[in-house]
Amino acid sequence: MEVKEIEEMKGTRKTEEMKDIGETKELEESENLEDFGTCDECYQNNFGLNWCHPCNVKQFQNEFGKWTSEDSEIDEFIQQIQLNANKSQEIIEWIPFDKLKNITYLAKGVLVAYKARWRDGFIYYWNYEVENWSRYGEQNVCLKSLDNSTNKFDFLQEIKNQLKFRGKNAIAIYGVTKNPTKNEYIMVMKYAGYGSLRNLLNNKFEKLTWKGKYNILLEIVIGLTNIHEMGLHKDFHSGNIVNQSLTLSYISDFGLCKPVTENDLENIYVMLEVLTSYPPYYNIPHNENLAMGIFKGLKSEIKCEIPQFLKEIVEKCWNFEPLDHPTVKELRSQLEKYDYNCNNEIK
Ligand SMILES: [Zn+2]
Repeated sequence: MEVKEIEEMKGTRKTEEMKDIGETKELEESENLEDFGTCDECYQNNFGLNWCHPCNVKQFQNEFGKWTSEDSEIDEFIQQIQLNANKSQEIIEWIPFDKLKNITYLAKGVLVAYKARWRDGFIYYWNYEVENWSRYGEQNVCLKSLDNSTNKFDFLQEIKNQLKFRGKNAIAIYGVTKNPTKNEYIMVMKYAGYGSLRNLLNNKFEKLTWKGKYNILLEIVIGLTNIHEMGLHKDFHSGNIVNQSLTLSYISDFGLCKPVTENDLENIYVMLEVLTSYPPYYNIPHNENLAMGIFKGLKSEIKCEIPQFLKEIVEKCWNFEPLDHPTVKELRSQLEKYDYNCNNEIK
């Protein structure tokens, strides 16, 4: 390959990544705006950025007859979400399978994941000049398909959870598609370029500064508090957290959501993993003896230097007196006490 060609490829990749991060910022910032102006068409107040609820409801209704998932329950599910959306981030849509290309296998977790290119990209707003949705344009997406053991109710519940937390540290979901050859329904989600947090820690750990690690921790803990506030608890591990950039982390699947139990150890496991790059008790076989050891207060070894304020937080987490063990909320406020706006590197 010519040198120039390689340089061009690098250039494309860079702009793509920046475009991706810009989009997230824009979506999150729009949450904070209070006045969205009025609709150009009906002059009523917009509910979200360029989002007039009654006008968009009409646009969606006009399209109801033009698509189908071939499952009336799923059709109705998508339609209800579209009719109730107050901003673009709250909608999902039916995405015909032929709008997806370059589908490549990624990994198998609770769901099987693929990477693909989506020709259209997600919806921003209705454009009256062209009488169509204004969209992001071609973008990378992550496809997650169900295995046979997952039923339709769980599939739809997972989408609801994803939507609830979009903009609150959950990865965006754009819609649903169906693989016609396998006859399986698939979630279409934002593609996190850096993959799972586990993957990031394996491959890019030396590139992470303490500040980077701190940012990841804070994002995760904020995500966790949001989930707990909704009365859900996530089985949390570095495999179901994904990174869009080196330090921008998202919760990627809610398949195992269960009622809240406080004082769980998982938060601390993830914390230690981010700080040290290896999972807790990495050097001890995971068996009954380990479980008993943890119960009796066996602490995971910390092999490397950790900045003092993070060390203090971790040590508090290892306190197994139930009343002294910090909750997620306390963890968050302790992390937030550190002034993360200062530009100095954490020492
Ligand atoms: Zn309007």
